[in-house]
Amino acid sequence: MGKRKVRICEYCKQEIENNQPSQPSGKKIFHASCYRKYETEKYEKDKTETERLKEIEDEVNDIFGLEDITPMLRRQIQKIFEENPKFTYNGVLHSIKYYYQVMGNEPDTKYGLGFIPFIYKEAKEFYIMKNKVIDKLQKDGKFEQEIETYVYKPPKSNKNKHIINMEKL
Ligand SMILES: [Zn+2]
Repeated sequence: MGKRKVRICEYCKQEIENNQPSQPSGKKIFHASCYRKYETEKYEKDKTETERLKEIEDEVNDIFGLEDITPMLRRQIQKIFEENPKFTYNGVLHSIKYYYQVMGNEPDTKYGLGFIPFIYKEAKEFYIMKNKVIDKLQKDGKFEQEIETYVYKPPKSNKNKHIINMEKL
C-alpha cells in the first residue's frame, strides 16, 4: 500500500478529506469553506476605522431607510464605542443585523440603537453558532451556499415598549 498524501488546510490546520471540497491558492490548500473565511478575514484586516464605521452607518441607513445617517444615530454609535471599549466594529454591525433581521424588531428612529449593549453578547453567540453549523455542513460537502437567517416580520405599530429610549436616559 502506497503512502497516502495528506492535505492539510492552511486555515484550520486540519486534514482535507477526499470528500471535502478544497480550494488551492498558490502553494497553499484550503477547505473551500475555510478559504472563504481566510479571504474575508484578510479583507477585513485591511479596512480602516473610517471604512468600518461607514459600514455600520450604511447598514443602519439600509434598515431605517435613510439617505444619510441622522445626527442622533451617529451619536448613539459613537457613544456605544465610547462606553464599551471592548466592542468591535464587526460585533456592533452584527448586533444591528441580529436585532432587526433575526429578532425581527421594527426599525424606529425615535429609539435608535440603544439596544446594542443589551444584545451584543447574545448576537455574538448566535453568529458563532451559525458559523459553526455552516462550517460543518460545508466541510461535509453537504452545503455550498450561505444560510441566510432572515426572519421577516410584518410591521407592527408601537409595540416597541421594551426598547430602551436613548433620548430619555
Ligand atoms: Zn480548513
